Amino acid sequence: MTGHIVVVGSLNMDLVVRSPRHPQPGETLLGSEFHTFSGGKGANQAVAAARLGGQVKMIGRVGADAFGKSLIQTLTNDGVDTSQVKQLGVATGVALITVDDAGQNTIVVVPGANGELSPPDLLAAESVFESASVVVMQLEIPLLTVMYAADLAHRHGARVVLNPAPAQPLGATLLKQVDALIPNQPEAALLTGTASASESAKRLLASGVRSVIVTLGDDGVLVVENEIETHLPAHRVNVVDTTAAGDAFVGAFAVALAEGRSTREAAAWGNAAGALAVTRAGAQPSLPTRDELERLFSGSPAFP
Ligand code: ADP
Repeated sequence: MTGHIVVVGSLNMDLVVRSPRHPQPGETLLGSEFHTFSGGKGANQAVAAARLGGQVKMIGRVGADAFGKSLIQTLTNDGVDTSQVKQLGVATGVALITVDDAGQNTIVVVPGANGELSPPDLLAAESVFESASVVVMQLEIPLLTVMYAADLAHRHGARVVLNPAPAQPLGATLLKQVDALIPNQPEAALLTGTASASESAKRLLASGVRSVIVTLGDDGVLVVENEIETHLPAHRVNVVDTTAAGDAFVGAFAVALAEGRSTREAAAWGNAAGALAVTRAGAQPSLPTRDELERLFSGSPAFP
């Protein structure tokens, strides 16, 4: 049986300019390109899960501006239920990205409306949690809201998947509520103070997390649950752009869990979706469909 996936998280508009080099303070440069892309880890993971066949509802906040309207439309086009993405009288979250000719980025993120999503907002949307089997979160909304959502999820019998990105120290109260924590390796190191994925996972499990899934880029993923460690090697693919690999992973993981699969199977789904996402440019445009995922699985030793 498939349950709903609720994503409680961020929506951002990414504003990307190309410039020959990064300007000095006070300097004006002529750039060559400007593009806008729908983003935010919450929205990316919601789209990732929906493309893989998940029934996804998103809870989030955008501004009552053109970016906000456009972000909602993009999610709707991918089949995400956006009835709980409300528009507020503050600016939509944006990421201002400058890419120079050497391919180096500088990024300024302004959370805007994402910073306004509060525990009372979640309480007002409690009915969404009632039908949820998996609740997915990241750390681009206030931490107090994440903690409240984890609590609501458990009260309604849903499993909590937390992608601790961008990484910040997390207290035991939240970690005890997490069924699956999915950091990438740098995030796991920041959370635990050790560079070893295996040691990080052990420390996080000791804090009360039920399972830890450390994504390892082109080295695949380490799954640790019930003291059993499983390493799934990465699929070998032609790498074009690694943006949103982690978001593809988390979305696929959530869909597999919602379909009743085990943590290790869900990690195998994530591993496949992450690999497919790196074969294409961009964030949301690179997120794979269910057909693509199933094709990659056929004959794959990484699929249990
Ligand atoms: P993030 O994008 O959050 O930094 P990772 O870089 O760990 O996360 O990537 C997430 C997942 O995407 C990996 O666990 C792996 O499954 C897949 N992936 C990432 N890079 C590659 C790659 N070069 N080849 C194959 N799979 C990859």
